This record gives sequence, C-alpha cells and structure tokens, in this order.
Amino acid sequence: MTDIFDAGEPTSLEAIMTNNAWRERQENELSKQYPEQTILSFRLDVPGLIKQSPTLVDIFSDSMRRLERLFRPMLTYRVDDLQRVTGPEAFLVLNECQTAVQMLTYRFEQTDPLGYMFNLDVVNLDPAANQFSRHELGFPEKACVVCGDDAKICMGVQKHSIDEVTRTFNQRYTFYVNKLRVAK
Ligand SMILES: [Zn+2]
Repeated sequence: MTDIFDAGEPTSLEAIMTNNAWRERQENELSKQYPEQTILSFRLDVPGLIKQSPTLVDIFSDSMRRLERLFRPMLTYRVDDLQRVTGPEAFLVLNECQTAVQMLTYRFEQTDPLGYMFNLDVVNLDPAANQFSRHELGFPEKACVVCGDDAKICMGVQKHSIDEVTRTFNQRYTFYVNKLRVAK
C-alpha cells in the first residue's frame, strides 16, 4: 500500500494556527487587488500532523491541474506555494460570481477521484453577503471519507480515530493509483 505521508515532515498545531493567519492575509490582499472577482482557496485536508510529503505535493499538483481545467474560462490569476510545511496551498482569482464558483467547487469535490482530500473555500470577506449552503444549491453535505455519512457529524463525535482515517486515505489513494496503472 502507498503511504502518502511517507518521508513527510510533521508540523505543529501552532504552525497550523500561524498558517491560518497567513492564509487570511493572502485572501485579504487578493480581494483588495481583485475586488470584483471571486477568490478560491485550495488546500489539502488530510488527517494528522504530516501535511507535507513528496506524494502529497504530487497529489496536490495533479489535482490543481484538474481544478484549473474546470475553472479555465474564468481564471484571472493563480498563486501557489507547494512547499509549505503546513501543506501545499493555492489561490485562484476567478472572474465569476461566488455562487457559480461554489457550485463548481462542490462538483469538483464530488466528481474528482481525489476530491475528498481537499478543502475548497470560496472566500467571503463581506459578512453581509451570505453564501448559499450546499443544501440550498442542491448538493449533499460533504461525505465522511471513512464511512460515507455526513462528515461534519463524524468529526463532531470523533467517530473515527486518526489511524483509521489515515489508513483509509492510503487505501483509497492506492486503489486510485492501481486503477490508473491498469488503465494505461
Ligand atoms: Zn464517518
């Protein structure tokens, strides 16, 4: 089985908090630079403290290519940082309204073979401008990677151990890679 975390470097909760503040600054700056456009934040969402490894960077780069293909007609600008110790991240500036971008991100999460490994956030810095929920846009809630139930509920009650979630990520990725090999 492939270990996507192999040769990875564990980070700390403190570094993750600092990185969250960094992300917010990037989002603010991009929104100031492109006030009429929609900013999409793209990052890995993997269990545990290893957020950076050679395989994780490969996974991120491949998926970013597929994401860019989906958004190409509206893509104004992209910036990324693949080597962050807290995990690779990218921001896309899109010439399209928030709701349309939201719908495309939900479609990506549902249809991309590795969509479950990512967090895609449409940046909304205006508290008065409410975003539609998944439900309102006709999409189901994000499914738990392990059991397929509503991911928020599984997280809330900590239904699965980190080991179990990590194993599932590795199993699903190994299955995906083997399928690609057969297809070639
Ligand atoms: Zn679950």
